[in-house]
Amino acid sequence: MTLDLTQNDISRVVAADREHVWHHLSQHKQYETVDPRVFVEGKGMRLWDATGKEYLDAVSGGVWTVNVGYGRESIADAVRDQLVRLNYYAGAAGTVPGAVFAQRLIEKMPGMSRVYYSNSGSEANEKAYKMVRQIAARHHGGRKWKILYRDRDYHGTTLGTLASSGQDQRAMQYGPYPDGFVRVPHCLEYRKQWDVENYGQRAADAIEEVILREGPDTVGAIVLEPVTAGGGVITPPEGYWPRVQEICRKYNILLHIDEVVCGLGRTGTWFGYQQYGIEPDFVTMAKGVASGYAAISCTVTTERVFEMFKDAPEDGMSYFRDISTFGGCTAGPVAALENMRIIEDEGLLENTRLMGERCMAGLRGLMEKHAVIGDVRGKGLFCGAELVADRTSKEPLDEKRVQAIVADCLAQGVIIGATNRSMPGQNNTLYLSPALIATAEDIDRIIGAIDAALGRVMG
Ligand code: PMP
Repeated sequence: MTLDLTQNDISRVVAADREHVWHHLSQHKQYETVDPRVFVEGKGMRLWDATGKEYLDAVSGGVWTVNVGYGRESIADAVRDQLVRLNYYAGAAGTVPGAVFAQRLIEKMPGMSRVYYSNSGSEANEKAYKMVRQIAARHHGGRKWKILYRDRDYHGTTLGTLASSGQDQRAMQYGPYPDGFVRVPHCLEYRKQWDVENYGQRAADAIEEVILREGPDTVGAIVLEPVTAGGGVITPPEGYWPRVQEICRKYNILLHIDEVVCGLGRTGTWFGYQQYGIEPDFVTMAKGVASGYAAISCTVTTERVFEMFKDAPEDGMSYFRDISTFGGCTAGPVAALENMRIIEDEGLLENTRLMGERCMAGLRGLMEKHAVIGDVRGKGLFCGAELVADRTSKEPLDEKRVQAIVADCLAQGVIIGATNRSMPGQNNTLYLSPALIATAEDIDRIIGAIDAALGRVMG
């Protein structure tokens, strides 16, 4: 079958999907009565499903991935040309797109130096965790092996990254997990844990308390999202990051910033951490690196980290004994190069900042009108509205109505998201993460759809 589908073909495709595809994050019981949604085509921020219905995609492919929008022929052309020249060689050797993309990426990341390629956000984080463990083994006499992670942050779906999941519902039922991952409190001021003036400083002090409790000589690294994504679009409070950096320096703890969501423009700068003056030791990235045109992720380190793996060349155990087979595919870096060129040439970072402000203003306007919005948060084109049943008690809005709001928008042809709906009473934050090409009309239409949905669902 070619991909130029007739209506008859499409019915067969939907049937095949229903019979044979196990969808991610989905309860399949529902497909006994309704068809799974199958998307057929995309252009810019628009998508069409198998029934021919058109959608405005306000979540960049569902999970903040397609930063430059759908249907980019220049990326497809660049990938095609590269694949016929050389599609693959294992990462123990170099390839032209791998070398050139690494150089361009590092140009955007002052202070960073080395790029380790793999395929997914989880994998990029696992690589960093393994590097921390090896540094502990070789340079700290086996100590400094613990990795701190934060409540409500998420770092992936493998057993190692789930061991560092700040979202319990994702990790439940899949244990036991590897040891040595220790949780620190989240920094969301709306869900206050301390009644103090300088909340950012206090939330960061809580990290120091955990370090002192565990013993500073046992803690090797801390992994943090610059802006927490799936945990509820949590922007850090004033004063948080400088204090985190200070604590890391004080106790010689490596700072790992998970930019899987925020990387490549989502927050209006190349990386989220660059807005907070952070100097990381590791930066991991995936989704927006090639906007979903190819699978690629990167674990980026400083030269200081890299040098720690060159200490004793005669010892066969001193280098990083790790490989990712498909980290040697050339489709990823070549797509990433073109993705980066598009962001630059089309001024998408600036657009993201402008449209992000418009989106935040829109959500704040909705907050004045709809009591169900308890808090509005965001950075660049990554915005969230936390829904509550009651503004005083901040009791989360029930799951059913959160889903009804998302479904109402979908019926209007606008795809929005809601975080962590699988755990009743948790987080209930609507999120918007449109492609970085979003126009003022797109943003206004998205806000208008949410307005109408809130009106209908909340009565
Ligand atoms: N880190 C963060 C912050 C994420 O949001 C995600 C995925 N949503 C991951 C890591 C894992 O990425 P992947 O699904 O590509 O393994």
